[in-house]
Amino acid sequence: MEKISVIVPCYNEEESLPLFYPEIKKVRDTLPEYAFEYILVDDGSKDRTVEIMRELAEKDEEIRYLSFSRNFGKESAMYAGLKNASGDYVVLMDADLQHPPALLPEMLKGIKEEGYDSVATRRVDRQGEPPIRSFFARQFYKLMNKISQTELVDGAQDYRMMTRQFVDSLLELSEYNRFSKGLFGWVGYKTKWLPHENTERVAGETKWSFWNLLKYSIDGIVAFSTAPLAIAMVIGILFACLAFIMVIFIVVRTLIFGDPVAGWPTLACLILLIGGVQLICIGILGTYLSKAYLEVKKRPIYIAKETNLPKGEKE
Ligand code: UDP
Ligand code: MG
Repeated sequence: MEKISVIVPCYNEEESLPLFYPEIKKVRDTLPEYAFEYILVDDGSKDRTVEIMRELAEKDEEIRYLSFSRNFGKESAMYAGLKNASGDYVVLMDADLQHPPALLPEMLKGIKEEGYDSVATRRVDRQGEPPIRSFFARQFYKLMNKISQTELVDGAQDYRMMTRQFVDSLLELSEYNRFSKGLFGWVGYKTKWLPHENTERVAGETKWSFWNLLKYSIDGIVAFSTAPLAIAMVIGILFACLAFIMVIFIVVRTLIFGDPVAGWPTLACLILLIGGVQLICIGILGTYLSKAYLEVKKRPIYIAKETNLPKGEKE
């Protein structure tokens, strides 16, 4: 019997989880020919999420849960799920029902009958989202696709079904700074995109503030492109050329007109400008360096505090 693993990262989802479970259960019951496994990952929630997971696990033996020692972020939660999933088909899904479980059979069909390695969803609209956020999101995808070899699909969600092979490839990328949207593209394979409309979360609220998203997008750029480093160099070369031309200009002018001491405002402006550009470039360097620093430390991506996952089978 083939097995489907459903991974659900949960952070403070005490309100959504009880609504989510019956929905996925309904879909699960339409697929009796498969073994099932839910992997609920509690990402260090501060509310009753883990209690709810325990209760669910008592009622339904297909439920596995894993609770982190603190909040490690959704990327870590997804990684923990992937690492512990044993299914032939693995699905990543949010707990807030923004990712309709009803799409599962269609995803399965895409893999089994149409021969795709992965079926992912993308939003066709950004309804219910602040316009300014949509604007920046669009710009981010445009920029990313220009400066990175890895393809990023605008509106792509983390809701996707993957084959075992796809998951194993993802797990081979054991980097600490995980940017899944990029990792999915990086491993390649054939992905089918299912468009679907944006739905509001059933309960609770989003954990993503504008600043979180901005930070996340910088993580994405640093993880999948070294273009900013090259840009720093290009700016440096431009400034050096400019300086060279100015030196010639000033020398010639001094020879012809002498040297009346003037032009300090120009000097002040130039010092400020070049100082600023230098600091920006050092900042770019620093950003990459800090990522490399965290990477060489080889800290674990997550720490599990409690789980009902079978021991020994997989870590
Ligand atoms: N999530 C998580 N850790 C976090 C933040 C979020 O595991 O630090 C989970 C959250 O419980 C949900 C999913 O990631 O299942 C998506 O989060 P959310 O709905 O807040 O994001 P949005 O849908 O607004 O992008
Ligand atoms: Mg959500």
